[in-house]
Amino acid sequence: MKKPFIRSCKCCGEEFSTTKLCKYYVDITHQKPHNNFIQNTKRSVFSELTKEHYKTYQIFNELLNEKSKIVKSKDFLRGTGAKLGVFSHVENFEGENTNILFDIAIIPNENNIILKRKQHA
Ligand SMILES: [Zn+2]
Repeated sequence: MKKPFIRSCKCCGEEFSTTKLCKYYVDITHQKPHNNFIQNTKRSVFSELTKEHYKTYQIFNELLNEKSKIVKSKDFLRGTGAKLGVFSHVENFEGENTNILFDIAIIPNENNIILKRKQHA
């Protein structure tokens, strides 16, 4: 017979006694709301992050339109509501490690930003 020990519930801190090492909640009614809370938090943080990416991408995309390259001042871009720090990944673009936002390369150049559309194969 294992000796029960006191643990505090992961969701509310209520103390309960258990013999099971893997029991973290008072019971199932405590577990679900907490997991939902964690999921919702993760989701909202994630959509908060991706929202900026999509918003900035839409702005860059409209500015580029049919052109393969444009040069805009950082101040101008900030004025459009674009976030200059966001990118989806970094890759070697024309020989330099470059921040890429989906298919647009973001190349800082003093007070300007050069936006270039990656050519699709
Ligand atoms: Zn609880």
